[in-house]
Amino acid sequence: MAAALHHVCTAPIARAALRVRATAISSPPVRLPKSDPRVLLGLSEQDLRQLAVDLGQQSYRGKQIHDLIYKTKSKEIQQFKHLPQAFRDALVRAGWNVGRSPVYRSVTAADGTIKILLKLEDNRLIETVGIPAEDDKGSVRLTACVSSQVGCPLRCSFCATGKGGFSRNLKPHEIVEQVLAIEELFKHRVSNVVFMGMGEPMLNLKSVLAAHRCLNKEVGIGQRMMTISTVGVPNTIKMLASHKLQSTLAVSLHAPNQEMRETIVPSAKSYPLGALMHDCKDYFLQTGRRVTFEYTLLAGINDKAEHALELAELLHSCGGGYHVNLIPYNPIEGSEFRRPYKKVVLAFVEALESRKITVSVRQTRGLDANAACGQLRNEFQKTPLLDLAPIVSMDETKLLPV
Ligand code: SF4
Repeated sequence: MAAALHHVCTAPIARAALRVRATAISSPPVRLPKSDPRVLLGLSEQDLRQLAVDLGQQSYRGKQIHDLIYKTKSKEIQQFKHLPQAFRDALVRAGWNVGRSPVYRSVTAADGTIKILLKLEDNRLIETVGIPAEDDKGSVRLTACVSSQVGCPLRCSFCATGKGGFSRNLKPHEIVEQVLAIEELFKHRVSNVVFMGMGEPMLNLKSVLAAHRCLNKEVGIGQRMMTISTVGVPNTIKMLASHKLQSTLAVSLHAPNQEMRETIVPSAKSYPLGALMHDCKDYFLQTGRRVTFEYTLLAGINDKAEHALELAELLHSCGGGYHVNLIPYNPIEGSEFRRPYKKVVLAFVEALESRKITVSVRQTRGLDANAACGQLRNEFQKTPLLDLAPIVSMDETKLLPV
């Protein structure tokens, strides 16, 4: 895996020489790609040192760039004040850019949760959420919920993102920059990353793995602090397990049997529950990391105690190492689903616990009430933005009622 990821991150440099001959840089030729954008974000310190050397600079200049993009969070090469002007100009002339996108809109909830829309270079919008929480000792844990695709093609029946359609996969740096944007907004380090925003991470696994590597090695977020979520895409859990990441796999089940699951998650038709559970067991055996099962409780659909008992049976049939995270549904506009009553949720929990399944209920955070995943983006964009409204700076995020 390390080799594969290294390949992802070094490719822009490896192909760098082709273009630099056409530039006015007096330093030695650099292997630049013809069409790939040269984005600094996502590159390792080693890659950046090599880039500096290729551009006729000393290697430590690469380390300076590393600090500037990952720690100082500079967004423009011309903001690299520690670098000589000639080197900055050479980077720009060679077509390099940092790879950061502006914040188009943000919404802050009373409990401190902030959802932002980033405007990508093709004018598409993606959602990212920063969720602060205090632990028992009073220190703040900041979780970034990142998107992996612009929209999602899977169209789960209850999901606002699915209803908004699919545009494209995100590139690795477009995932990494979401975490940096959250750190910048909160002026606090992100401690946890969950790949649970817009999109199905397993449909964009190459970029997700490259972003995961970068967040771990360059940004400094522990693998155990990251969770990759999926509704299940055939063969991809096996592929992920082979990388032996020390990260949690979260599988969105939403139903205790195949028939019901197909009505909630249409893509389940191509991935029978038995095969999915088998792959989850394999993930646990290969990585030693517990699999979390996400289960959205939809009133009157999948929230009866008998469904909980059926779910417990399903999990026991596949061995141990599992945890269930229940998510009482938050209605979205135009949805036919309803949120279950609290007593129904508690009965579901009790039924699972009676069968020795560890379970937690996801708290409703401020934004959840009015802005489920995908809702904010759907409000602003169905197609790429044509008429651009003013962009919000990091210091003037809007406090909107939620
Ligand atoms: S729940 Fe996840 S996989 Fe399903 S449509 Fe929404 S974003 Fe896609």
